[in-house]
Amino acid sequence: MIIQDKEFGDVVVRKNPWSNGLKFSISTSGRLQMSVPKFTTTFLAKRFLNQNRDLIREKLPVKDPASQRSRDAKKKLLAKKAKEYLPYRLEYLAKRFGYSYDHVRLSHANTRWGSCSSNRTISLNIGLMQVPEVLRDYVIIHELAHLNHMDHSAEFWEEVGSHDPRYKEHRRKLKMFSPGV
Ligand SMILES: [Zn+2]
Repeated sequence: MIIQDKEFGDVVVRKNPWSNGLKFSISTSGRLQMSVPKFTTTFLAKRFLNQNRDLIREKLPVKDPASQRSRDAKKKLLAKKAKEYLPYRLEYLAKRFGYSYDHVRLSHANTRWGSCSSNRTISLNIGLMQVPEVLRDYVIIHELAHLNHMDHSAEFWEEVGSHDPRYKEHRRKLKMFSPGV
């Protein structure tokens, strides 16, 4: 559920079936998130929020409601761009280098640029739309090479290198960016 709060904007309340405690955190868009015990009502959640207001102000970098919304808008735009680009770029590079995958997924993960699962699904992070094209291609090639090697063995890197000879440089440069939007 979402609580509208005058000071903190939208507060995302998650019911956690395994926890008896109350936990506050910040989402990538700077929203306050509360994890509460399973049977917490909205009334109670609001009370928890009020009781912890000072602590939250002091400890958590909650963004003001306007910048939460602009972050959302940015993310939405990025997701749209990614949808119009990444699946086609993946298809193009797969054809060019002779790979076949089953599915493509777009992800919003904060820590990973991409992944490749054993059911031949390739996930690509929408944050890739914010990095230079060569680095984006490197990530796609990296995930495609995982279709043949589900590890980071020497053979895996050799295959990546055969399609992207400057992969070491691209890998290093990618570390200057963060996948979180
Ligand atoms: Zn990998």
